[in-house]
Amino acid sequence: MNNSNISIPYPVNETILDYAPGSNERKSVLKTYDDLYKKKSTVYLKINGKEVKGDIIKTMSPPHDHKHILGEYHTANKDQVNQAIKSALNAREKWSHMHWTRRASIFLKAADLIAGPYRSKINAATMIAQSKTVHQAEIDAACEYIDFLRFNASYMQDIYQNQPESSPGMWNQLHYRPLEGFVYSVSPFNFTAISGNLSASAALMGNVVVWKPSDHQIFSAQVVMEVFEEAGLPNGVINMVMGDPEMITNTVLASKDFAGIHYTGSTFVFQNIWKKIGENISNYKTYPKIVGETGGKDFIIAHPSAKVNEVATAIVRGAFEYQGQKCSAASRVYLPKSISEDVLSEVKKQLNTIKMGPPSDLKNYINAVIHEEAFDRIVKSIEKVKSDSDAEIFHGGTYDKSVGYFISPTVVTTLNPNYFSMEQELFGPLVTVYTYSDDKWEETLKLVDSTSIYALTGAIFSEDRYAIDEAIIALENCAGNFYLNDKPTGAVVGQQPFGGARASGTNDKAGSMFNLLRWISPRMIKENFVPVTDYHYPFLG
Ligand code: NAD
Repeated sequence: MNNSNISIPYPVNETILDYAPGSNERKSVLKTYDDLYKKKSTVYLKINGKEVKGDIIKTMSPPHDHKHILGEYHTANKDQVNQAIKSALNAREKWSHMHWTRRASIFLKAADLIAGPYRSKINAATMIAQSKTVHQAEIDAACEYIDFLRFNASYMQDIYQNQPESSPGMWNQLHYRPLEGFVYSVSPFNFTAISGNLSASAALMGNVVVWKPSDHQIFSAQVVMEVFEEAGLPNGVINMVMGDPEMITNTVLASKDFAGIHYTGSTFVFQNIWKKIGENISNYKTYPKIVGETGGKDFIIAHPSAKVNEVATAIVRGAFEYQGQKCSAASRVYLPKSISEDVLSEVKKQLNTIKMGPPSDLKNYINAVIHEEAFDRIVKSIEKVKSDSDAEIFHGGTYDKSVGYFISPTVVTTLNPNYFSMEQELFGPLVTVYTYSDDKWEETLKLVDSTSIYALTGAIFSEDRYAIDEAIIALENCAGNFYLNDKPTGAVVGQQPFGGARASGTNDKAGSMFNLLRWISPRMIKENFVPVTDYHYPFLG
């Protein structure tokens, strides 16, 4: 028996590889991409560590080449969802009592597998499934995911070290129990790192999980499961079920052992799930923890003192990387009249050099949007702009879905600060710019604060420190992640814990101790060393 007080290795952020021409990582990822693209894969449900066939089988295609079949995946029926719940609950006894350092070893091993032997595979699968450039795949599926796994292990240790005071004659201890039941994780299509972390963070804290990935990320979700397995995660700790989201969710929420949901996705789906939990509340053994990171309508506001090229570059990167499909993507911009024309012409100049196409050609900066529904939704918005009198297309506005779901980076300008595309999350490569008069800085800050229901990310560009201070105060509640002179995307685990409030989520900050605290239920233990034997207090005389 090793009774030493073991420490988690100190976490450092994974270095982002650059995939420059001639580099080994470039050769390796392109070869893996090619192999995965040609090979037909089958993704089964994963219940109690076993591959389980579902009733209905669906095909998987890359968004940039939707007629190409990558393979197929199985979908769960209600019985299989219940089996996944049972499998999680059966695994709970042993998993929740495993020493925390052993649990940490498994997830730290997963991090090293992704950093090494699985790096090309998880990146290539993400490039294919979600249509990401190699850089976007690298900062998501490799680096962010590795950071989640390594930093969370360290945060777990920090949480466990937190103990209460003990007066003489007693010893007080806080035990950090996992939740009593199972955790349901529901992940979005856009980040492989999020898909893995929603389950891994809860499991790291000793919980068992039923995971429902997005239908549009299954091709890379299978690599996430493969890594868990190779890292030695015991059977049944994380069970993966795909299929009808409503049926799966209703089945999960009907279980008395449902103890928490770790959700990332759109706002209205989350609100609907929350309502259902409320309706079922008296059936549960314990009050479920509800953690959801949801939509955004993220902004950039430039002060008249801002530098033109800095603002323009932040718009190009912040609004269009990964086709604007980051929850943090800039989608509304406020420019002062004095620099508006110059910023817009610099944006146009930069966008004119951008190439669009499949991720296998590394010269492409823009790939396809995720699916036909997203394509149609964004195209409808573009067509609306073309026909409306209070907005116009400044750049882009073209699209083609004959091979893949391609939409060119589109900049809309409007004189109406409440134009629909200034308010609603569109989740695509479309940004709307409103120009304000320079003497209306304070009014514009109020406008930024009151325009949308969301409060995820936002950025201010200014060389004037007083203006920055004013913005920090005026915009206090409209962004959970607020950037000074930087684009509003690209949060790094361990550096900028991520999440927003209002309709953007419960703001439990993924990749931080705050999030892990949601997956525990502390138990206080007081031990009295010498119990008293007489009930009298001195005041009784
Ligand atoms: P989505 O809402 O379509 O899907 C998210 C998940 O919910 C998927 O697993 C989906 O299958 C499931 N789902 C869909 N309908 C459901 C239903 N009726 N009942 C239960 N589950 C259901 O979102 P998406 O398109 O995959 O992802 C994009 C959204 O996610 C955007 O709104 C984006 O802002 C948000 N997002 C937020 C963050 C954040 O940290 N705040 C991060 C990533 C994505």
